[in-house]
Amino acid sequence: MKKVVKFGGSSLASAEQFQKVGKIIRQEEARRYVVPSAPGKRFPKDTKVTDMLYSCYHLAIQEKKFEAELAQIKARFQEIIDGLELSLSLEEEFKVIRENFSKKVGRDYAASRGEYLNGMIMAEYLGFEFIDAAEVIFFDENGNFDGAKTQSVLSERLAHTERAVIPGFYGMAADGRVKTFSRGGSDVTGSIVAKAVHADMYENWTDVSGFLIADPGVVKNPKAIDVITYRELRELSYMGASVLHEDAIFPVRKEGIPINIRNTNLPEDKGTLIVEATCRKPRFTITGIAGKKDFASITIEKAMMNAEVGFCMRVLDVFAKNNISIEHMPSGIDTMTILVHQDEFEEKEQKVLAGIHRAVEPDLVEMESDLALIAVVGRGMKSTRGTSGRIFSALAHANVNVRMIDQGSSELNIIIGVRNHDFNNAIKAIYDIFVTIQV
Ligand code: ASP
Repeated sequence: MKKVVKFGGSSLASAEQFQKVGKIIRQEEARRYVVPSAPGKRFPKDTKVTDMLYSCYHLAIQEKKFEAELAQIKARFQEIIDGLELSLSLEEEFKVIRENFSKKVGRDYAASRGEYLNGMIMAEYLGFEFIDAAEVIFFDENGNFDGAKTQSVLSERLAHTERAVIPGFYGMAADGRVKTFSRGGSDVTGSIVAKAVHADMYENWTDVSGFLIADPGVVKNPKAIDVITYRELRELSYMGASVLHEDAIFPVRKEGIPINIRNTNLPEDKGTLIVEATCRKPRFTITGIAGKKDFASITIEKAMMNAEVGFCMRVLDVFAKNNISIEHMPSGIDTMTILVHQDEFEEKEQKVLAGIHRAVEPDLVEMESDLALIAVVGRGMKSTRGTSGRIFSALAHANVNVRMIDQGSSELNIIIGVRNHDFNNAIKAIYDIFVTIQV
């Protein structure tokens, strides 16, 4: 059994957190490949080391003094080293970093040093081999992740390495310089490593016990999701639920490797298991609820619209030409509604309106703003009758007026449009009917 374990910044923010992580890794022989983030926040108002590195490098490129800022970063690492009673010295490393900052070798290089140094400390602490990610993770000439090259180099290297620490977030660009993924990218590294070693599991350790059924900012103490499929996760992430970097899914999904989101501070919690498919019955009919506010709707009405070939295409073309992406498009016999992001749409509104008039000569065009979309997602909905009935009676009881309904053809989700100000009440009502009352 082989597991890749990735630890997020808050799991590695201090020596105390490192000790928790060490305990978790030593608990299971299978936890052989470790991917650390840079030290994150120790307390809410603290600054992540990655952000400290970005600001420090910003001073360097402006040719301002950056010594004091770099010393603060060094102190963050030294505090961890001292707390763990390690004899590791980062003196030489910081000399090189200082020189490279003065030479302005790149913003990505600067940011990556958080993971690089944390990886060195982690390897020393665990007695694992340290592998610099710049030697095993590659990007191509266009700056995209080079999966083929990485797979061949990384899998070859790890085939000969029993236990290793590979820092997250960065790799090497085609020109030999250090390049990072986008923010939160250590999740992606973990997934790439899991693929390279054909891991049985990719454990992603963070500071929450997995995905929650609903946003805790809206529903008080929502329950966690125990098992979720990649497709369900995609629907929920699209609607704003976030724990994992989006790109972290692709490498492992192709290999059928499950991801387990776990909580470093509550290691007994089972967390959320993300799988390709499962025959395990979901605990509730719905897997999760997520939503976003601030959409605008454009409703177009025209008698006999359904008989007019190419009507939708011409309307959509107007949006495409104005570079506006469409979020949803419920339609009736003589009407179609298009939902777009309000901020993206507002300034182009009149141009779009004129375009629609020219393209399809509608009888009426109506617009509405301040709408919210809520996605109710669940593989269990397919086999359960009356799900939408229950959703809408719950919303009616909560006095929420439903503006739009769109059931995905996969029967995996139902999207509901409500007014922005009904957003929280709507989510609470749906959560209660499926989870609190557990019908
Ligand atoms: N340290 C990087 C960030 O703060 C990457 C990561 O933590 O995954 O975005």
